[in-house]
Amino acid sequence: MKKILVTGGAGFIGNHLCRKLLADGNYVVCLDNFFTGLKKHIADLLDNPKFKLIEHDIVDTIDIDCEQIYNLACPASPPHYQYDSVKTLKTSVLGILNMLELAKKYNATILQASTSEVYGNPLQHPQNETYWGNVNPIGVRSCYDEGKRAAETLMMDYHRQHNTDIRIVRIFNTYGPNMDPKDGRVVSNCIMQALNGEDITVYGDGSQTRSFCYVDDLVNGLILMMNKEGITGPVNLGNPSERTVLNLAEMIKKLTDSKSKIVFKPLPSDDPIKRKPDITLAKNELGWEPKIDIEDGLKNTIEYFKTV
Ligand code: NAD
Ligand code: UDP
Repeated sequence: MKKILVTGGAGFIGNHLCRKLLADGNYVVCLDNFFTGLKKHIADLLDNPKFKLIEHDIVDTIDIDCEQIYNLACPASPPHYQYDSVKTLKTSVLGILNMLELAKKYNATILQASTSEVYGNPLQHPQNETYWGNVNPIGVRSCYDEGKRAAETLMMDYHRQHNTDIRIVRIFNTYGPNMDPKDGRVVSNCIMQALNGEDITVYGDGSQTRSFCYVDDLVNGLILMMNKEGITGPVNLGNPSERTVLNLAEMIKKLTDSKSKIVFKPLPSDDPIKRKPDITLAKNELGWEPKIDIEDGLKNTIEYFKTV
């Protein structure tokens, strides 16, 4: 049994991770400020003696002794991270600084939830970890992209300067049950619209691509990475099965048997044109690859959204 700190543990990926770590017999401290996380997603864990919730903002310092830290705290959907962009940048940069100080003090291993957004609007396809990216430093997505890039820099500098045991994972689009229906991401928007008989909103002409990974696959990858010795990353974690956003919307319409119309809305600024992970490194180093295909994953997710 390890004592594990999960920041952002009440968020979409975080609550799945907390559950899996508890199921594996660990003691889990979930730290969250509930900006996008939902209390109902961890409500059933509160009576578990091996689970502790701390309501706290990682921009402020805190002292928690632990053996492993998963740093997930950061809003992930564009409308949420753009809502208070200055705060988003502080969360990424000051947040990881505070967590790295904890890791240094307690000799803990720290994993940073980085993102495919560090590749920006990629000129290399698919994206592998040696690609430095094509990021706009002054656009509406920059608070998130540059914040995550700076966090990777701090991780590597603590590793080089203080020998901190670090793991950087670059997560590609992830979906599944317990997403917030109001999160504003394409999967949650399209499913909710399809189920409610509303227009399904596709931004731009829908030809931009994404590669969607089911949350259980992703969580397995995070845990494998954390427990792998002698590796810092960055390592991509995502499902390399690439599709257009229009294809995703059509698939959701079909799977929900919905009468909704697909309508086209303006493409947000700096929306990446394509995105697909090269996961050779994760396969070779972690023996990891996604197992759940999009149709099964969407069916599970749709069943969840029917209950909210
Ligand atoms: P989410 O918004 O559902 O969860 C983020 C959690 O962090 C929420 O519970 C929120 O309340 C908490 N939080 C935000 N700011 C905080 C702060 N200052 N202090 C304490 N807690 C704070 O997002 P998610 O989809 O679960 O993403 C989790 C992590 O994975 C994020 O760091 C995100 O950048 C990264 N990521 C996610 C995806 C994806 O597709 N979901 C893709 C790439 C990277
Ligand atoms: N998108 C869309 N309709 C929506 C929400 C998003 O067509 O209702 C598009 C968005 O413009 C982007 C893709 O879907 O091209 C994925 O968006 P999301 O916000 O889920 O993730 P990200 O842009 O961060 O990859």
